[in-house]
Amino acid sequence: MRSKIVAGNWKMNKNLVETEALLTELSAKLPDTDAEVMVAPAFVNLASSVRHLESSTIEVIAQNMHFAESGAYTGEISGDMLLNIGVDTVIIGHSERRAYFGETDEILAKKVNTALAKNMRVLFCFGEELEDRKSGNHFNIVESQLKNGLFSLEQNAWRHIVLAYEPVWAIGTGETASPEQAQEMHAFIRKTITDAYTTSIANNVSILYGGSVKPGNANEIFSKPDVDGGLIGGASLVADDFAAIIKAI
Ligand code: PEP
Repeated sequence: MRSKIVAGNWKMNKNLVETEALLTELSAKLPDTDAEVMVAPAFVNLASSVRHLESSTIEVIAQNMHFAESGAYTGEISGDMLLNIGVDTVIIGHSERRAYFGETDEILAKKVNTALAKNMRVLFCFGEELEDRKSGNHFNIVESQLKNGLFSLEQNAWRHIVLAYEPVWAIGTGETASPEQAQEMHAFIRKTITDAYTTSIANNVSILYGGSVKPGNANEIFSKPDVDGGLIGGASLVADDFAAIIKAI
C-alpha cells in the first residue's frame, strides 16, 4: 500500500545534545498526521535517538549502510548493526553519496540487495544533474538509475522500497523543481516501473520528492497526484519548518 511519508535527512549536522534537543522540540510540535514521519540523524546519534523516540510515532532511519555483512571496512556500518539498535529503514543512493563518495549504481544495487535480504526498508534516492536537465537527458538518466539500482529485484521486494526523486540541481540550492516538473517525473517513474514490472507495483510504491522543499512550497508540491511526500534536508533541521512541511502533507 502506498503511504504518505515525510523524511528528514539531517546529514552531518547536530551533535548528541543538539540531536536530542531537536527531537524533543519536533515531538512537541508534531502535527496530527496520517503520514509516516522519519528522521535520519548521524550514525553516532542513532541509538540514542531510537531511545529518545521510544514512545513516539517518529521513526529513526539511517543515512547509509555498507553492503558487506561485516569485516575489514574501516569507518563503515553494517545492516545488522542498524537492526541491532532498532533501525530498520535506510537511505541508499543519496546524491551526496554518489557524488562525494564514489557510490556507483553497481555499489548501490549491492547495498539495496543486502538491506532487503535483512528485511530492511530502503529509501532509494536518484535524480539528474543540472546538465542532464538542460540537455533534455533527465528522463534517460532517471530511467538508468532505476534500472541499474533496482530492476533486478524480484516483484515482492518492491513492498520494502520507497523512492525519492531528487534532482541534484535542487538539493540544498534553494531552487526547487516546479510542482509540474516533479509530477511529470514522478509519473514517468511510475510508467517506467509499470513497463518493467506491473501497474500494481508502480501504483503501490511511494515516491517522495526531494530538493529544497520548504514550508512555503510543500503544499503545492505535495498536492500533485504522483508525489507521496518529501525527503527534506535543510528544512528538517528546524523543528517549526519540518512540522509545517509535515502539516502540508
Ligand atoms: C536532501 O539532501 O535530500 C535534500 C532534499 O536537501 P534540501 O532539502 O536541503 O534540498
